[in-house]
Amino acid sequence: MSATMTQPAARSAFTKVQLFVKGRLTDSKATRHGPVFNPSTGEQIGEVPFCSAEETASIIQCAHDAFPAWRDTPVVERARVMFRLVNLLEKNADSLARTVSLEHGKTLAESVGSVRRGIEMVEFACGIPTLSMGETMHNIAQDVDCETYAHPLGVCVGITPYNFPLMVPLWMFPIAITCGNTFVLKPSEKVPLSAMKLAELCAEAGLPPGVLNVVHGDKECVDVLLRHPLVQAVSFVGSTPIAKYIYETATQHGKRCQANGGAKNHILVMPDADMDKTVAALQTSAFGCAGQRCMAGSLAVAIGKAADPLVNALVASTNKMKVGRTDVQSDADMGPVTTKPHLETLLANIEKGAKEGAKLACDGRGVKVPDAPNGFYLGPTIFDHVEPGMHVSKTELFGPVLSVSRVKDLDEAIALTNGSMYGNGAVIYTRDGHAAREFKHRAGAGMIGINVGVPAPMAMFPFTGAKGSFFGDLHIQGREGIQFYTQHKMILSRWHAAGSGPGAGEFVTTRG
Ligand code: NAD
Repeated sequence: MSATMTQPAARSAFTKVQLFVKGRLTDSKATRHGPVFNPSTGEQIGEVPFCSAEETASIIQCAHDAFPAWRDTPVVERARVMFRLVNLLEKNADSLARTVSLEHGKTLAESVGSVRRGIEMVEFACGIPTLSMGETMHNIAQDVDCETYAHPLGVCVGITPYNFPLMVPLWMFPIAITCGNTFVLKPSEKVPLSAMKLAELCAEAGLPPGVLNVVHGDKECVDVLLRHPLVQAVSFVGSTPIAKYIYETATQHGKRCQANGGAKNHILVMPDADMDKTVAALQTSAFGCAGQRCMAGSLAVAIGKAADPLVNALVASTNKMKVGRTDVQSDADMGPVTTKPHLETLLANIEKGAKEGAKLACDGRGVKVPDAPNGFYLGPTIFDHVEPGMHVSKTELFGPVLSVSRVKDLDEAIALTNGSMYGNGAVIYTRDGHAAREFKHRAGAGMIGINVGVPAPMAMFPFTGAKGSFFGDLHIQGREGIQFYTQHKMILSRWHAAGSGPGAGEFVTTRG
């Protein structure tokens, strides 16, 4: 593994992050603030307000005030805003990706990919006039017709994590608002810049004031979003302990809630797998976005004779990776992690893994990026001979640290996967169709990959995490996303022909 050199860059401008309320950028009245960093250099590039309970409640009120007019706006007009937003996102894709790289530390290629996945969500929302249609049946009894149609809920809330500053907000609000809801987004306080750019583009696309609002803050702000009587639904993406807290609190206060949590995704490698392709995919899965992905492969399970060839090829290939800045043009394969406290936690976890007896086959701790000595860098790290009870086997580390466990057969591998408290993704690499079929059916994760390293679904499919990776019923994305943000009304109507009346054709129901 080596470090890259880059051209010296100009200092980034310092941003005092604002709120987005009633269709405008607005200064917050907050008295508390948090820092925003460029993780590539460790330099503070901005500060974000931590809104008080009172200010948060006033923003919810704005979203509530905008709801009746937006609900009554024809759905095709709501969708037209999304068509315009797609065009604006395409036009600004490069600068949006640069903002993501600046505040998060992803490589530019990774940020471009995340913008692309975000645009796909808005494209999906363009289809909501068709996708949200109800059902109807004529003459269900004499002169009686039945229909259902989808209603928006009211004010919906989205609380998002730091690892996809632009894509995860786009998992939520395009569907919610095209369904006729108004929305309050609370981005991660660590990476608030990309979400603000999204809000500005929504205004440019013609979204009426108050339909999308952006508030910033920490627990004080979130607790209001979870409890406020005008909030109808809460979407959350983040770590498992917070997801559980969000789900329990929101549902106790009568809200719908979908809460995506953390993950420890297992990648099973059968001895018959195509080793070159498997190693390339595993490396991208484990170290892409510096391992800060809820779908990252973080535990490779080498089955039988796969172990030695897999580990040897993986270590050789990983040693060639270049770590470097992502805020400027560079040829880095991997950038920094996003915050210094997280880097320190990762270092402590690596220490713990080594003390527990896992073998450090590749140690990224010494990596130096000469032109950015204060950046938050950790090189790709591989632990071999990881045993099931070890910390690095069961805990989500959320960084460029891959553990490798060696097991004797597929049954043992599936049992290991199913013993995890998480259930986001699980993958098998094999040429054996029967093994793949068994794995698909028996593995307890919600998203399964077969010879695919990161089995994240496209926008039209739900993001189906399970176990400790998801709390709720209806998942984010796809038709489940539309169902989450709407409720169906059923209308039973009877219209007798002129001159006839209730009698022989009376509609009778015994269903209550
Ligand atoms: P986090 O849980 O720390 O924070 C997520 C959001 O919750 C942020 O907006 C934050 O401000 C808020 N928050 C944090 N602590 C809170 C508290 N005590 N009370 C109320 N709100 C609080 O997560 P993170 O570190 O930003 O993101 C990384 C995590 O997100 C990882 O665990 C990763 O696996 C997970 N993630 C999951 C998915 C998925 O779809 N399952 C996708 C992306 C990320």
